[in-house]
Amino acid sequence: MSELYQLDVSALAAKLAAREVSSVEVTQALLERAKANADLGAYLALDEEISLAQASAADARLAAGERAPLLGVPIAHKDIFVTKDFPTTAGSKMLEGYRSPFDATVVAKLAAAGAVTLGKLNCDEFAMGSGNDNSAYGPALNPWDKTRVPGGSSGGSSAAVAARLAPAATGTDTGGSIRQPASFTGITGIKPTYGRCSRYGMVAYASSLDQAGPMARSARDCALLLSAMVGPDLDRDSTSLDRPAEDYAAALGLPLSPDATAAQPLKGLRIGLPQEFFGAGCAPDVLAAVHAALAEYEKLGATLVEIRLPRTELAIPAYYIIAPAEASSNLSRFDGVKFGHRAKDYADLSDMYKKSRSEGFGEEVQRRILTGAYVLSHGYYDAYYLKAQQIRRLIAQDFQSAFEQCDLIAGPVAPSVAWKIGAKSEDPVAAYLADIYTLPASLSGLPGMSVPAGFGSDGMPVGLQLIGNYFQEARLLGAAHHFQCATDWHTRAPKDFA
Ligand code: GLN
Repeated sequence: MSELYQLDVSALAAKLAAREVSSVEVTQALLERAKANADLGAYLALDEEISLAQASAADARLAAGERAPLLGVPIAHKDIFVTKDFPTTAGSKMLEGYRSPFDATVVAKLAAAGAVTLGKLNCDEFAMGSGNDNSAYGPALNPWDKTRVPGGSSGGSSAAVAARLAPAATGTDTGGSIRQPASFTGITGIKPTYGRCSRYGMVAYASSLDQAGPMARSARDCALLLSAMVGPDLDRDSTSLDRPAEDYAAALGLPLSPDATAAQPLKGLRIGLPQEFFGAGCAPDVLAAVHAALAEYEKLGATLVEIRLPRTELAIPAYYIIAPAEASSNLSRFDGVKFGHRAKDYADLSDMYKKSRSEGFGEEVQRRILTGAYVLSHGYYDAYYLKAQQIRRLIAQDFQSAFEQCDLIAGPVAPSVAWKIGAKSEDPVAAYLADIYTLPASLSGLPGMSVPAGFGSDGMPVGLQLIGNYFQEARLLGAAHHFQCATDWHTRAPKDFA
């Protein structure tokens, strides 16, 4: 019999519904495991009493005959979602000790679906980063090799799921922070269409880009979570889309094209390969794994077509102008008065602001605030911010032209496997460049996912990125699910955590 921590969301949900295990037992086992592996730096907050109280409430609902897809399943939340029962730090000293009076909509929706909260997960400060090494509370480690980053900014989420400290976790993706950490740790993650999940209660980084999504072992588990996370929240998030939730799990088995057959379930599906994603900038070990995965897609019946996304390179400068611009505006609320850390000694009001912000924000956050304030300033706005917005529009248009030739787009998630902790700490631009393949979909608001596709150098996981057109989450999850029925990459666990 499997240990409880080895069970994924689907298996746990089935056992809970059959009353073969209780939510309290599962929650207890996972909390023990989280504590025993505290050196991974995955969790920032655990509260046994709260989690077990939630689990026993779920058990009572199960005992009363209630059934819901996630009833009693413990999951953990990226510490960027505010929670009333757990502290919320957003990975920053600025919010140390902060308690929100309410739950983020995504947290509340998952709780309403029956999920139990295991705790809060480490992340880069205000979700700015690619390796979880910008967290004020120390790095999270990659369970495949503890000397490497688990990706970022949702690095606590990816480390926890890969190390089986949680069957699933929430993440947020502004420029790749669900897809890239999923790729670096061999798990599955999906960022839905911008606006599909409410941003209410997500500590804001770049509001026109931030989007929540699930990180789990399989497409099936992501589908279960995502179905509970999406849906309109019009009164509380002005960018929330007025479109009802979908049951992605029920859709997993549906054919993706009228040509599909039992032997070739993806027959009729056209997968576009952007030439710009397969160039010299991508490491050969990553390309080899991606090509092998694409060959598997061909076996499943999909047709590969070459496409162009000609402005891919421009995604980096455009994103690193727009995201800091929005960040500089969003983070102005942390002034030691309205929110956040307040310096102890100061001469006057302006000195209080300066000291509080200098003490509360880490180096990367300060760098982005400065960049953002600069590109928005009078005289530079047209040259930088406005130009970046124009480029953003062109990048989105390139995708629409590409989707005339294909149903999905595939390529690598990142140009390399997870790097060594510290390798890019001294050179922020080196980290920015590694976002090249995730930023185009982010800037365009398109859904994208990372699917475990094998291993590259030093036995590190490689993810295949799939990008869909707006609202094509079901198609993305379906394409990933069929691949996962034919491969077992997503079932592999790091050797010390199997
Ligand atoms: N690495 C990107 C950044 O630092 C993306 C982060 C994210 O998606 N939250 O901004």
